Amino acid sequence: MSGNDTPEVVIVGGGPAGSLLANYLGKRGIHTDIYESRSDPRTDEQSHGRSINLALSYRGLAAMSPVGLTDRVMKMCVPMRGRMIHSKDGHLAFQSYGVDNAQAINSISRGGLNAAILDAASKYSSVRLLFNHKCTDVHLHAGG
Ligand SMILES: Cc1cc2nc3c(=O)[nH]c(=O)nc-3n(C[C@H](O)[C@H](O)[C@H](O)COP(=O)(O)OP(=O)(O)OC[C@H]3O[C@@H](n4cnc5c(N)ncnc54)[C@H](O)[C@@H]3O)c2cc1C
Repeated sequence: MSGNDTPEVVIVGGGPAGSLLANYLGKRGIHTDIYESRSDPRTDEQSHGRSINLALSYRGLAAMSPVGLTDRVMKMCVPMRGRMIHSKDGHLAFQSYGVDNAQAINSISRGGLNAAILDAASKYSSVRLLFNHKCTDVHLHAGG
């Protein structure tokens, strides 16, 4: 962090929400610390947490667009155009998620997405990532 070491904003939790918020604050040059109890998911596979993929759709992509993350994240996605229903008699029925085959929602690794957003946040000099730091107490009035 450059200049003053006292953060203007402290974010508890470096999951998708906290790390994306840090990108928004970093873009505005606001001194921000993220306290994350887990280790860095970019270097520690074990800290990826919940492991099943996320379905990323318009709302999530729209949230990432203002901080320039959409292209990077879309490269990590696998389009899901629908689901296949498997009947006991072996009959298959496809149910499309969109009105045509061009529409899809996007399957993405939860850990990979989190790591990408954290990585982007780390590029801002005003954002500091503190892994293996669990928040155990907050003193709102004292600011600590
Ligand atoms: C099984 C499952 C499937 C899901 N599928 C989808 C899906 O398909 N699509 C979708 O959009 N959403 C899905 N969700 C929801 C999605 O996971 C959440 O919306 C998303 O993870 C929320 O992000 P978050 O950053 O708010 O919280 P989290 O991802 O929970 O991150 C919180 C972070 O805070 C850290 N933390 C917690 N307490 C402290 C502390 N005291 N000090 C420091 N750090 C702390 C944790 O280690 C964690 O890294 C699913 C959720 C589950 C459980």
